[in-house]
Amino acid sequence: MATQLASRDEIIESLARTQLDVLIIGGGIVGAGIARDAALRGLRTALVEQYDFASGTSSRSSRLLHGGLRYLAQGRVGLVREAGIEKTTVQRIAPHVCEPLPFMFPTYKTPLWGQWPLWKLSIGVRIYDLLSGIRDFRRSRTLRQAEVKQALPGLEPNELTGAVRYYDGLTNDARLVIDTLRSASKAGALLLNYCRFIGSERDFGLWRCHISDQLADRSAHMLVRCVVNATGPWSEKIEHSSVKLHLTKGIHLVVDRMRLPVPDAVVMTEGARILFAIPWGDRVILGTTDTDYTGRPEDVRVEPEDVSYVLDVVNRSFPTAKITDKDIISSWAGLRPLVAAKAGRPSDISRSHEIRSPQPGWFDVAGGKLTTYRLMAEQTVNKIMLYIGQRPSKGTTARQPLLTPDEARPTSAIVPLEPSRELIEHFCTNEWAVHLDDVMIRRGGWAHYIEDDTELTENVADWMAGILGWDDSRRSEEIARYRTARPRICSIA
Ligand SMILES: Cc1cc2nc3c(=O)[nH]c(=O)nc-3n(C[C@H](O)[C@H](O)[C@H](O)COP(=O)(O)OP(=O)(O)OC[C@H]3O[C@@H](n4cnc5c(N)ncnc54)[C@H](O)[C@@H]3O)c2cc1C
Repeated sequence: MATQLASRDEIIESLARTQLDVLIIGGGIVGAGIARDAALRGLRTALVEQYDFASGTSSRSSRLLHGGLRYLAQGRVGLVREAGIEKTTVQRIAPHVCEPLPFMFPTYKTPLWGQWPLWKLSIGVRIYDLLSGIRDFRRSRTLRQAEVKQALPGLEPNELTGAVRYYDGLTNDARLVIDTLRSASKAGALLLNYCRFIGSERDFGLWRCHISDQLADRSAHMLVRCVVNATGPWSEKIEHSSVKLHLTKGIHLVVDRMRLPVPDAVVMTEGARILFAIPWGDRVILGTTDTDYTGRPEDVRVEPEDVSYVLDVVNRSFPTAKITDKDIISSWAGLRPLVAAKAGRPSDISRSHEIRSPQPGWFDVAGGKLTTYRLMAEQTVNKIMLYIGQRPSKGTTARQPLLTPDEARPTSAIVPLEPSRELIEHFCTNEWAVHLDDVMIRRGGWAHYIEDDTELTENVADWMAGILGWDDSRRSEEIARYRTARPRICSIA
């Protein structure tokens, strides 16, 4: 399915031997996008990720490629335009992990439900279409009350005035990261997961960087011209960082689609906030929350009050559904790495991004969204090229597909693919999978999709043992590790 990757030993040896143009810290979507862009523009590029690729926020999002209708209501036209263009760009370069998704946004008469009156929303979505340049996404329309009732029979009917139907994109966040990295690797980037950036100092106009291999007891040093801090929620903690973050937590719940048979994604409102019910194959993803978070990024988790909040909103919107915590198949919690603002509730803090260079050759990239990752990467690499004395060449990342259809089709999709030994072998040999959870959670996505994954876990562990040469004790350790890492189902009681 692809050419074999260089081994970890080869990469670490090569990092210590060669002077690089750029070292990227962080293997989420932002770091992956920068690695791809830099390598495609001919820069000698490496990326280190302390855990697995995409294990941070970039596998814990709502999986939407969107301009953000909500931001339009806040008058942030520039932000909506930027993200709207990017959602069509990502669909063009990665059609295997991005498809148009219709959204129904119902409107109601009373104040609580009426903050989004139908006339205002109808105008809003037309502006939204224009700002997104629609193209690959279909045009929005306004629906009358009777049409909404027919389309969404379980929806709260009292005081319903109608709905608008508009389009955004649905993606698979972790796959988008992995596929971006596959493209970066093909372009020559050196990529290491389970490798932590420890620190760095200036050394005759370069950065001497120290990394530690988390899979073997060894460390390495390298000389690079530029360092990019793309560590999302961790970015304040990196030495030399100038980033000030405001972290907010968001959680998602997955339930069977039979329990909430929505044909389109549905927007549900709670005060000024909006939540989504997003159809995902035979499942529905429900979310999200937006609450301040001050703990360690590693410790973020779904709490009972998060579950209650989301289920309350869903059950108010669909009163006959009566979804309880017993219906939850899976859940995840993530942290929005928002650039800190002086005031404002969590939902009001800007989602725009910042690229700063507080010291020569050091770049902090913070904020932004999954949707705008490619633009963030392009702007960062432009700045890097200027710093190293090259005129920024025109980036090709908006046109060049991430993968060829032959590379993409058998390995990557929005809804999890049928598990097979061949697929697992591909994950291990071409996509840097090291642990069972790398496969079950991020590359395969089965942890979030399959209700009882006991048998599959055993099978995948057997396949990985054969492919990676695990003995019985390593196999048992991997199953135990996966059970701890597996998104826990949090009961309210
Ligand atoms: C609940 C929620 C819903 C969201 N929904 C959407 C959505 O629908 N659409 C959208 O566009 N955006 C969405 N977002 C925003 C989007 O997910 C994030 O903006 C994006 O994933 C951030 O990516 P990142 O690469 O900056 O951070 P991350 O994905 O967190 O990556 C940073 C990486 O840096 C690594 N790292 C940290 N320290 C070190 C070190 N010392 N050495 C090596 N590696 C290190 C971490 O392990 C981590 O993997 C959502 C966010 C949340 C929380």
